[in-house]
Amino acid sequence: MDNFEDIVKEDKIIKQFMKKKNKLVHPLVPVKASKSTEKIEIGLFTLGHLWLYELIKEYGYSKFLREIIEYAICKKLALFEWEINDKVEEEISNMLLSHDIIFSKRLLQNFNIEQYSEVDANAKDKDHPYCHLTRLLALAELGMASQIYTTELDLEKFLCTPGSVINATYLFASMTGREKEITEKVPDWFYEIIEKNMGCYHESKHLKYYPKMDAISCKLNDLELQFASDWYWISDNDQVILSKFLYSIKILKELSFSLLGLNGILSAVSTRIIFDNYWQSLYLLKNDKVDEYRSFVLDRMRLHILKRDDGSDMNIGELLREIDGGLFDPIPVNGDYFTKSAKVYAEELKIKDEYYEYNSEYIHASLTAVYSGIMVPCKNPEHDFHLTIKDGGARLIDSIAGIFEIINKHIDLINTYYNEEILVKFEFEELFFTSKDEWTEYMNGYMGE
Ligand SMILES: [Zn+2]
Repeated sequence: MDNFEDIVKEDKIIKQFMKKKNKLVHPLVPVKASKSTEKIEIGLFTLGHLWLYELIKEYGYSKFLREIIEYAICKKLALFEWEINDKVEEEISNMLLSHDIIFSKRLLQNFNIEQYSEVDANAKDKDHPYCHLTRLLALAELGMASQIYTTELDLEKFLCTPGSVINATYLFASMTGREKEITEKVPDWFYEIIEKNMGCYHESKHLKYYPKMDAISCKLNDLELQFASDWYWISDNDQVILSKFLYSIKILKELSFSLLGLNGILSAVSTRIIFDNYWQSLYLLKNDKVDEYRSFVLDRMRLHILKRDDGSDMNIGELLREIDGGLFDPIPVNGDYFTKSAKVYAEELKIKDEYYEYNSEYIHASLTAVYSGIMVPCKNPEHDFHLTIKDGGARLIDSIAGIFEIINKHIDLINTYYNEEILVKFEFEELFFTSKDEWTEYMNGYMGE
């Protein structure tokens, strides 16, 4: 990448159009861009027929189109917008006016490809009628269209049939190098318009979950209060089980106050943690391992206490309390209690639901999670629908419904353990608004208070 330094110096890391070679070249990835040059090159020209595609969208394959095609064959013109001079424009306008259709150009200085991304993508699909039409008109310019077009044929069928005779004839034209006769005529101003429209962009999506914050917070606080005042009397092993549940509840509480958190990456990360708390509790209860787990964890806690205080700033009170609690013994070097992967445990416990596979990526910051979190499909049809960075918030990840499912399963587990319904399950519908408007109204009222 020899030119890399120069580009950085220029402080202009944008896609550049090298007019000489008719190539679209990204300064940082010249190799990749030139690989698909041919595709982009041909794809671009279809925009010259945008004026015609827009008419088809409105008026179908009706008589006006037949007249246009026959005019093109007669004049040996492809009728790309840059070929339509004043005289041609007048003739086309008159032709269309007889069908009450107004002619208008599309490739103006303020041209914005975002408005035409669908039609542009269709035009690049070699089996789409738009592409057939562009190729037929190109053949008209080369004097080759009359071989395949007659006034008798069913025009709509002719253009809409995939793998058509048009493509076969056009292939011949491009293989014999005649395509160049057309592409060479593309004027600079068209390249300039395209260059301006070469940025990445994406669809904006609305958030899905709008929380009733007071309802959620009220419910979650109640859950904590239920155990807070009696914690001292709760047995050690029960504390293990309840702690894991309450940890999930705390995470849910923190999520609930952020729209982005609820709808984005954080909820995906949290799904995994909340799922871990659930399956670990299930495992411990099923295998009667709570006590063993607790002893293991106490050993680990000693390490954490020392890590918290690096010795220079030792809190004597805290240290005494930990020693009193029986925590301060020689420190073991242990790994995690759960030595196998969560997947293995989930399979063993027969709870390997769909949410596990998807969200487990997130806790490891794997590249798939990174891509899924920050990338969205680029909507610029000239870019072959690659992934691009989403500006603003994260890509929206639908996790929160799954989180409540897991929490409810966790509640089931605890109720089963106590053999009594000590916890009430969540009703998802009661905790979320059904629309953004309802939420906005609620928030306005809240701010007003
Ligand atoms: Zn793009």
